[in-house]
Amino acid sequence: MSQVSGDGPGAVHGDGPGAVAREFQSLVEQVFAHRHRYYELDAPTVSDDEYDALERRLREIEREHPELATGSSPTATVGGARSEMFEPVEHLERMYSLDNVFDRGELEAWAQRVENGLSAFPPMLCELKVDGLAVDLVYRDGRLQSLATRGDGRTGEDVTYNARFIASIPAQLEASDPELPVPALLEVRGEVFFPVTTFDEINAHVMEQGRTPFANPRNAAAGTLRQRVDRRLDDLADARHRREAALAAGQSADRIDQRIVRLAADAERASGQLGGLQLVVHGIGARTGFDPQAQSQSYAAVASWGLPTSRHTKVHPNLEKVMTYIDHFHEHRHDVEHEIDGVVIKVDSINDQQQLGATSRAPRWAIAYKYPAEVVTTTLEDIGVNVGRTGRVTPYGVMIPVRVAGSTVQMATLHNASEVARKGVLIGDRVFLRKAGDVIPEIIGPVVEVRDGSERAFVMPIKCPECSTQLAYEKEGDADIRCPNARTCPAQLRERLFHMAGRGAFDIEGLGYKAAVALLDCELATDEGDVFALDAAALATCPFFTRATSDGPQLSANAGLLLDQLAVARGRPLWRVLVALSIRHVGPTAAQALARTLLSMQAIVDADHDTLAGIDGVGPVIADAVIEWFAVDWHRAIVDSWRAAGVQMSDPQPELVGAATLAGLTLVVTGTLTTMTREEAQEAVAAAGAKAAGSVSQKTDYLVAGASAGSKLAKAESLGVRVLDEEQFARLLAGGPEALT
Ligand code: NAD
Repeated sequence: MSQVSGDGPGAVHGDGPGAVAREFQSLVEQVFAHRHRYYELDAPTVSDDEYDALERRLREIEREHPELATGSSPTATVGGARSEMFEPVEHLERMYSLDNVFDRGELEAWAQRVENGLSAFPPMLCELKVDGLAVDLVYRDGRLQSLATRGDGRTGEDVTYNARFIASIPAQLEASDPELPVPALLEVRGEVFFPVTTFDEINAHVMEQGRTPFANPRNAAAGTLRQRVDRRLDDLADARHRREAALAAGQSADRIDQRIVRLAADAERASGQLGGLQLVVHGIGARTGFDPQAQSQSYAAVASWGLPTSRHTKVHPNLEKVMTYIDHFHEHRHDVEHEIDGVVIKVDSINDQQQLGATSRAPRWAIAYKYPAEVVTTTLEDIGVNVGRTGRVTPYGVMIPVRVAGSTVQMATLHNASEVARKGVLIGDRVFLRKAGDVIPEIIGPVVEVRDGSERAFVMPIKCPECSTQLAYEKEGDADIRCPNARTCPAQLRERLFHMAGRGAFDIEGLGYKAAVALLDCELATDEGDVFALDAAALATCPFFTRATSDGPQLSANAGLLLDQLAVARGRPLWRVLVALSIRHVGPTAAQALARTLLSMQAIVDADHDTLAGIDGVGPVIADAVIEWFAVDWHRAIVDSWRAAGVQMSDPQPELVGAATLAGLTLVVTGTLTTMTREEAQEAVAAAGAKAAGSVSQKTDYLVAGASAGSKLAKAESLGVRVLDEEQFARLLAGGPEALT
């Protein structure tokens, strides 16, 4: 990541006032260049964090050397000039940016300044900071007169034409409350944004066309809103006229026809994308015939006229409550339908706002509390490949380690060769990297503009990097290339051994990754079939499982742990044995369905396709995978070896009373439970005759929510699904739904 001091692009070395002035000048130029790319081209080349660091350094210098600061410094202006592509629109009232704080201390300092200015702590309106594009809308006598971008805060860009495609922008305001007539003049400010799901779709589309994906929803919203759809439609109408004329003159219209198809597709795509945009109002500007006392009151009024406002806004009386709001949405940042990059805290009373006033770029009565960035840039140093449990060969990016969303990231999967091509990343590229909360890090795409020609394309290997077998696609059209050597490829063996010991399978803690590697290296296991036959004498031959003593090598604690846990694992329920076999598509849910219905390994082996496919939670694809798996002799040999070594291959007949208690119900378990793991809870659900589903839907009867339950809890609440805590879950398991009433 570039730094503003040290060796980054912002650094200017040397001492003395001359050096400071040069650093200042260089920073000003960089900031303006980044603003141009960000606001006008919608294509930044650095992350917001990096940009903010440049601005912060600029402010620092201005504080220490006030003589350098001028009215035209970026710190005194609202970012973003106006592109010549659009007609100018003068805002009736100025649009400001917001000052930022990044922690509680900075927030308290701001609140103190507000309190000093007003002589008491005022009620604060808390809102989400929507990651979109600021717009200004003017309504006269209720009719939309203009839609404009913020521009430099005084003059914006006219995008009124596009408003008709955005469903949440009413063309006409209507009074729904006779006490609140629509005012003669109303200027509102808001954010135009893409809901998260639409943003993902747009980026997928952009990448399909081989273009650089948008770094964030804000750039996507800006890029979409700032399109001249009107000109495209004019061009289309023009081409249609020319077609008519050509035909009337008896000339060929083939070329024009092609152009019409292209223009029509283009206009349709642009208007379709605009249709995905939404508006939320977060401020008012000029107005006549409307005089709200508080900002919250103005939101209620504009909502009554049909303008969209946020359901997440809340007025809080003290800083403690404000902090709780900030913390809540930090934790639930990804449960909101759109991206947020923080919250905005505003003095609610309009009188108080007027008393506090504004600086040249931001109001004093509002502040943005920014959450840590989730998009950063780093360098993609290499692309490696990894061979997985099922032979799938997965490319992954190796990057210069970078801190993002609370952790340091160095690797990110690139899924498969076509994904690498789709993202258009080259080895050596500067890339945008995203890590949202607990979500797996993802390379968004390259910063094409900063390439220097030294970057090189990734070439997918044609041979397995671990066993040199020729890689192959299983069938035409597959996205994933695989190593077909499932039986002896060291990578696949290692991954399968590790998987069979996993928490969703036999749950053998003593068989971790290192132990799996040691068993293979010492040739104690040629595949997973050998694991349950291990004994003390065998482990004693492998250094990983021994320790040196004065009496010679002795078995280590690792060995004791492994043998003890193998003994326990022999008695695990059938579904765990099935998961441990690494049958494609057979995870805990499918395995539980198979075990619950067929009760024994033999019955599963004997079942025909229709029987398997007919099981609720199995279906034809999994049925095929099960039949194919058991058709391989060395696969059956694994099962035979486990059986011979005492692994239980059937479940007891379900006890009627217990099993019937939850029959026909669907439960989802989420969050961390204190008395059992999530797998154990799912097992208990299945054992009681209910379905343990992975996601919440209309069909879910109960959501069992442990600590830190996130989006599933929010979804359950929004769908009205009953949520159970751990104690209620225990009651349900013991006594069925009646026990909850
Ligand atoms: P800002 O985005 O930090 O805050 C002001 C904006 O917040 C307002 O204009 C408004 O549009 C928006 N907003 C969202 N929800 C709001 C709400 N509920 N109430 C009020 N306003 C709300 O400021 P800015 O001046 O628009 O942009 C600065 C940001 O842009 C910084 O984060 C900076 O990192 C980024 N930037 C990045 C680059 C780059 O190259 N990466 C360049 C320039 C600016």
